[in-house]
Amino acid sequence: AKKHRNSVRIFVPAMQHDYLSKIQIEQRLRNAMNNHELYMMYQPKVDINGTLKGVEALVRWENAELGFVPPDQFIAVAEAAGLMPELGQFILYTVLQDMVQLQQTLQVEFPVAINISVKQILREHFVRDVLHSIDAAGMARNQVILEITENVFIDDMDLVVDLLHALHVAGVSLSMDDFGTGYSSLSALRRLPVDELKIDKSFIDNILSEEDARKMVQSIITIGGNYGMSLVAEGVETAEQAALLHAYGCECFQGYHFARPMRLADLQAFIQAAAVA
Ligand code: C2E
Ligand code: CA
Ligand code: CA
Ligand code: CA
Repeated sequence: AKKHRNSVRIFVPAMQHDYLSKIQIEQRLRNAMNNHELYMMYQPKVDINGTLKGVEALVRWENAELGFVPPDQFIAVAEAAGLMPELGQFILYTVLQDMVQLQQTLQVEFPVAINISVKQILREHFVRDVLHSIDAAGMARNQVILEITENVFIDDMDLVVDLLHALHVAGVSLSMDDFGTGYSSLSALRRLPVDELKIDKSFIDNILSEEDARKMVQSIITIGGNYGMSLVAEGVETAEQAALLHAYGCECFQGYHFARPMRLADLQAFIQAAAVA
């Protein structure tokens, strides 16, 4: 085991991990919600001056045997195992409680972005449950941004479009995550009521070194601008990347250069420190 920030990370040989993952992860995931092994981290979204524009909620799972399991791994298992409705509801509930508590304590208001898997959208009563959760928590609907990816189209495209329109009409914002990495980015944009585009980290990673990545980022910013959408650059790790993105017209940034995902208490300290500065 090797120290991984605050947690101990258990390294399992890759083959063995693959072999065990489905059964192991699935069984333990079923218990994780009750055992308080799941928690949320919040990553600030900021403008070029570092001023808070909002946060993205990111789920974390630490299991005694499995160690820290990355979310993209266990979300996929949860989807396959049919656990996503429950897990998604847990995430939504936790995030809304956290945000209402924090915003009341600090007397500030900012939007929170929550990742939504397509399996969640297709669950019965999804729209009704989301709206009820937001209203019951006492959060303003227009302060909640649901992040979706182009793979929402994999299953039942017409139904997904209808459901997301219903949420949008009801006042909830929609963000297209990892924009440009899917198979149907542009048709997704045309059919969905999207308020925000998130430029995928893979483009940002190469923006300084590759002309192709620069052209792609500039094109995405132009598309977003033409549709009146907000733009967020994800995975911004250096001041140089941020400066170039800003020069291209991107106003909102998320990445280690500005802030890492953090616990609620650390987010509170982050906001308080910024208010004093
Ligand atoms: P995503 O939605 O694209 O989230 C952004 C990921 O990039 C996060 O990884 C975040 O920690 C990481 N990140 C942010 N800034 C930087 C940076 O400057 N450098 C680097 N190297 N990474 C950065 P994370 O938290 O491991 O999440 C991975 C993916 O798992 C997410 O990608 C999302 O697809 C999924 N996920 C995370 N939380 C949730 C959730 O609550 N619900 C659902 N459905 N999916 C989630
Ligand atoms: Ca996201
Ligand atoms: Ca993303
Ligand atoms: Ca991404």
